[in-house]
Amino acid sequence: FLDIRGVTKSFGDNRVIRGIDLSVEKGELVCLIGASGSGKSTLLRCINLLEPVDDGEIVLDGIDIAEPGLDPRPVRQRVGMVFQSYNLFPHMTAVQNVMLAPRRVKSRTPAQLEEPVRALFRRFGLESHMDKYPDALSGGQQQRVAIIRALAMEPEILLLDEITSALDPELVGEVLDVLRQLRSDGMTMMLATHEMGFAREVADKVCFLNEGQILESGTPGEIFTAPKHERTRSFLARVL
Ligand code: ATP
Ligand code: MG
Repeated sequence: FLDIRGVTKSFGDNRVIRGIDLSVEKGELVCLIGASGSGKSTLLRCINLLEPVDDGEIVLDGIDIAEPGLDPRPVRQRVGMVFQSYNLFPHMTAVQNVMLAPRRVKSRTPAQLEEPVRALFRRFGLESHMDKYPDALSGGQQQRVAIIRALAMEPEILLLDEITSALDPELVGEVLDVLRQLRSDGMTMMLATHEMGFAREVADKVCFLNEGQILESGTPGEIFTAPKHERTRSFLARVL
C-alpha cells in the first residue's frame, strides 16, 4: 500500500536518511523506534511531503508521491499527520479546529460535517468537550482532538510523530487507547515512538532506525525478544 524505496535525505552535509526501504500494508501499524536523531521524524515528514526527498521513491497506492514537481496538496489529504505538539488553534473551539481543514480544503459545509465530526468526538469520548477551547482541555484531550482533526480529512494513512511525548504520564494511556481503537478499525498507521511497551503490544511491524537506516525490522517479538544486531540490543537495553 505504501512502498518506500531507496529514500535518501540530507540537510547540508548531514545525511539524515541513508537509503530506506519500507513497505506498509493496508491496515498495518508500523512503529519506528530508534535513538534521538536517527531520522524518525524526517522520514515521516518526507512521506507527508513536508520535506522533499533527495532520492528514491515513495509509492502510495501505485503513485510515486516523491516525484519532484508533484502537487503536495492532494497527497497531504491522503496522508494525515499528527505531531508531538498538537498545534490546535487557541482561538477556535475543538470542533472548529476539526472542521477547519475539511471546510477549506474539501469545501464541506458545517452542516455536512456536523454528523461525521460529532461521531468522531463521540467515538473517542470527547463529545462533551466539542465546544471547549484548547486551553480548557487537558493535554491528552487536546492530543485526541488533534487526532480527530487528522481523521476528519479521511486520510488513507495516518503518520504519528511522538504524539505522547509531551503528555503527563497519566494522560498517555488515553491517547494510546485511541490508537488501539483506530488499529482495530483497520486504519493504516506509521508511528514514531519512544513508548516501547505500546509498540510491543500493538505494532504489526517494528523498524529500528539507526543513523538514517533501518538496521532491522520485524514483528515486535522478533525485535524486542530476539534482536539480531548489537546496536538494536544496546538501544533496547537503554530504553526498556
Ligand atoms: P527524536 O527521537 O529526537 O525525535 P528523530 O529520530 O526524529 O529524533 P530527526 O528529527 O529526524 O530525528 O532528525 C534527524 C537528524 O536530522 C538530526 O541530526 C537533526 O538535527 C537533523 N534535522 C532534522 N530536521 C532538520 C532540518 N529542518 N534542518 C537541518 N537538520 C535537520
Ligand atoms: Mg523526532
